[in-house]
Amino acid sequence: MSNLSVVERLKEAGMMTNVLRVAQPNADLKEFQTLMNEMGFGDQLNWEVNADSGFYDEYCIAAVQEFCKKNDIEADGTEITEEIGERLIILYESLDELQDLHEAWQEDKNEIELKEGSTSKALISSFQTIMNDLGYGKQLNWSKYKNDGHYGASSIAAVTAFIADAGLEGEDPTFISDTVIQAMMVKHGAFYGKKWMDNPKQEASSSDGSTLTEFIGVNFQGKKVLADDLFLPELQKIDKYAGEFGIKIHVTSSFRKDANVKGAIVTPSKMSNHMAGHAIDMNIVFPGGWANSAYLKKSNEANWHDSVKGFIDAIRDDETLRWGGDFNTEDPVHIDDGLNVRSREEWKARFAATQLT
Ligand SMILES: [Zn+2]
Repeated sequence: MSNLSVVERLKEAGMMTNVLRVAQPNADLKEFQTLMNEMGFGDQLNWEVNADSGFYDEYCIAAVQEFCKKNDIEADGTEITEEIGERLIILYESLDELQDLHEAWQEDKNEIELKEGSTSKALISSFQTIMNDLGYGKQLNWSKYKNDGHYGASSIAAVTAFIADAGLEGEDPTFISDTVIQAMMVKHGAFYGKKWMDNPKQEASSSDGSTLTEFIGVNFQGKKVLADDLFLPELQKIDKYAGEFGIKIHVTSSFRKDANVKGAIVTPSKMSNHMAGHAIDMNIVFPGGWANSAYLKKSNEANWHDSVKGFIDAIRDDETLRWGGDFNTEDPVHIDDGLNVRSREEWKARFAATQLT
């Protein structure tokens, strides 16, 4: 996370070069070098000797050059252009998914079944992210389903196309075979440096109490859900209620990064549960319709579909969860667990733990 933000931050600042080409070692550049090392460019960086020098030196240029070569970008590596920055962000975001898949495949290949109804939803989700990176977003119907972890018709269509493109005729697309997954990892891994599998990306949930985790629910779709570990049981309940009433939660927002947090934690004036990873914003997909904020307004409650009414009432009846439509200032797309009102101390602790990941 923190390494991704260095690219985003510098990209926003209007290209990295000016910021990075400084006489003094630069903390941002150290972060950037760590990121490039995680992405497998340790050889070019001369990591063993030079590591995160903090200078945009010849090694750094060589690493960026190699990245460009692997990603068909014409550039000499002496600056991080917008095109390079954007590609870096996409690939850095899916690096841990590629690493997860690779690791699971090395260790437990024989116990994993990647197909419809599989329990390995997280791995299927990783697989879908990678397939999207590889250009199969259309078949995956990515804009609608994203990496939902469900191996349905769209995933099968993507794998069918991949099998044809990779010349793997004869492979069965109704599950993800060893051959297909190996071919896919080779292809995706080629966008990274040679050592992409050697330096597991700094996980958000590390041992220092930082605990930001991706939640994947059967009845969840839309944006990726990032939450504090302590909020995961609540998300599981939301997922369960959604299943009971036959609706889907279309997530539009979850954990929010506080732009003011840069190493030091300052408690913001508004203690939003989103900033502690304890809230989601959502629309509801119900049989025959879509419930957005206008539909979900309390004043429209009499017109709600039974499934929507059942689901919202289940949230209301839950001993922990709160529906934002009942707040004094109505926020009908919002669900949280009231952490900020239950314990301000606890909120601050979770805020610090999640923001600093
Ligand atoms: Zn909200």
